[in-house]
Amino acid sequence: MAAAGITWCTISDMSHARPTPPNSARRLRWLLALPKLGIVMLLIALLSLLWLLHRNEVDEDRAALIKDVLWLEQNIRFHLSGNEDQLQQLAADMGNRADRKNVFRLRAAHLLKNNPEISQLLWFDAHRKVIDALPSTTLPDQEIAAFGPPVTDKAFELASRLGKRFYSEPFFLDGNRAFIEIMVPVFVESQLKGMLVAVYPLDTLLGNLVPWWFTEKYKVVISDDNDIPYAAKTNIEGKSTQSYEIPFDPPGYGMKLRVTSYQNADNSLQRLLTLAIITLAAGVFWSLWLVRDLMKKRLRAEEALRSEHAFRAAMENSLTVGMRARDLKGTIIYVNPAFCRMSGFSADELVGQSSPMPYWAPDQIDETYAIHQTVLAGEAPAEGFEITFVRKNGERFNALIYEAKLIDGNGQHTGWMASILDITERKRAEEQARLQQEQLQFTSRLVTMGEMASTLAHELNQPLAAIASYNTGCLNLLERSDCQAQDIRPALEKISVQAQRAGKIIRRVHDFVRKSEPKRAPCSLAEVFEDCLGFVEADARKRHIRIECDIPQIPAIPADRLMLEQVLLNLIRNGMEAMASTPEAYRTLRITTEVSTDELRVSVSDHGTGIAPEVRDKLFTAFFTTKPEGMGVGLSICRSIIEFHRGRLWAEDNPHTPTGSGTIFIFTLPMEAT
Ligand code: ADP
Repeated sequence: MAAAGITWCTISDMSHARPTPPNSARRLRWLLALPKLGIVMLLIALLSLLWLLHRNEVDEDRAALIKDVLWLEQNIRFHLSGNEDQLQQLAADMGNRADRKNVFRLRAAHLLKNNPEISQLLWFDAHRKVIDALPSTTLPDQEIAAFGPPVTDKAFELASRLGKRFYSEPFFLDGNRAFIEIMVPVFVESQLKGMLVAVYPLDTLLGNLVPWWFTEKYKVVISDDNDIPYAAKTNIEGKSTQSYEIPFDPPGYGMKLRVTSYQNADNSLQRLLTLAIITLAAGVFWSLWLVRDLMKKRLRAEEALRSEHAFRAAMENSLTVGMRARDLKGTIIYVNPAFCRMSGFSADELVGQSSPMPYWAPDQIDETYAIHQTVLAGEAPAEGFEITFVRKNGERFNALIYEAKLIDGNGQHTGWMASILDITERKRAEEQARLQQEQLQFTSRLVTMGEMASTLAHELNQPLAAIASYNTGCLNLLERSDCQAQDIRPALEKISVQAQRAGKIIRRVHDFVRKSEPKRAPCSLAEVFEDCLGFVEADARKRHIRIECDIPQIPAIPADRLMLEQVLLNLIRNGMEAMASTPEAYRTLRITTEVSTDELRVSVSDHGTGIAPEVRDKLFTAFFTTKPEGMGVGLSICRSIIEFHRGRLWAEDNPHTPTGSGTIFIFTLPMEAT
């Protein structure tokens, strides 16, 4: 029972806590999904923005690249055409003047000085023989011969025939250095007299015509249609992002300028920003995930709480035991439906009430209040206590209450929890059973008396016969003339003794069949024995049975005299009846008494039939008998009487018997009232 232990619960939970209903859990789940959706959308928007910015940047870069490439191409073209003009002018001047050699030397030196992209200026005659060259270190002729690969011959030929300046195809010399040449014919009076040739190493051309700042941003490459690189210039390394190509014309021949841009350092900042945004979003997602986990846990806890609540409600409703919780001051903080049914008051009427409670019996307010105080002081008996309460309709009922400490979730003692049993019906039934038992005992005594009536009548007959004969003797004496008063005195005295004897028999019978409440009072065992023997003496004589009895000289014991007599008489009579077929010589019934410090042990032993094994288990069962006219209630009543006196009654085989069979009935009684 709950009251036997400590109750662990929280009162606020008990009466008011209601777990979140399922639709609220659904709403929570939705609320949790919204920020997730918001964050996903924000992330998408941010990434789109970054992508757009990147696109714009790429577009801007491309526009800047194209602009720069166009500018570069224009710059180179401007330079080359400037050179062309100067060479044309030199060729014209050489055609008009006689001191051609001086003109060439002077002007060529000037030209080379101002245009470092030209590595050499050569003057050929019409038969392709070098007349002069500047700087002269690249002479003599054989080198010029080596200088003239087929492509230059072809350009020479075309320039001679067309009579105008002409660029050669690119060609490689000195290992892998690429060159181009421009041929400018020299006419004297419309006659081709020679050819001016300017040599451009392409790497020098780029080195001089591409400014430094350009190479900090781009890589410039001169290549042909087959992407064979002739020359390149750059000051940076790294990953290229985009490139742009433009024809390198003149000189033409499918040559092109390819300019490649390189990633600038600012990109890393942008990447860092993107990374930061993604990391932050991931962080937010992670925290939302954690929150989601927490929420899931909470939902699970709520679910558990709901089923716990439902389980507790079902338990509360099915309980027939009343439960009532009070705080430390004695105010009711909880009652269960069973207690409401028991008391007739609703929970609302009871919760919040303090002493005197509406269900206290008005005529026992003081006693009930004292018990109430005992409970609050923590001194309520652990085995429970009985009290009378009054229902709302005025009906009284007996309650058995067990009180236990009420401990909250933090282990704090917050009040008292009582489990209350309505024992009115049980008490009524017990009372009924007790009355029936008493009635049965009484009936049994009457039956015993009825059975003993003939022997008692015979017993009574003896003193009556003696009285009659003494009386006759007296009358005879009185009829004599010499009768003296002292002659009849002895007879009258004997009449008196016999009358007392008869009176004693009648008193005993009267006492025995008297109906009285069972009560334990100091009682002399010697008197009990004497009375019993007085009852059975005549019967024993008739049955030729010897009764051996040591009348115990012990102080009075707490017992109901009549009840003890009934037990002893029953055991004696059973013993005598069991010896009906025992040879007369052995028909002895022995009553012995043993006294120890705390208990008295009385044994009634016979040399009778003994108890068969199949009978032994049923001996003390009511209405069990092996006798044709027996009632079978004797031993069952004996046992309940002995137990009423807090003693024990049992049967053993008698080991000391000449007949080989016999029984000892033993009962104990406590010496002190308990
Ligand atoms: P009843 O005497 O009316 O039969 P009891 O309850 O006194 O009822 O006895 C129940 C039965 O126990 C008896 O019928 C008998 O069989 C057995 N019994 C009782 N006392 C003795 C005894 N001293 N020896 C043998 N059997 C006994």
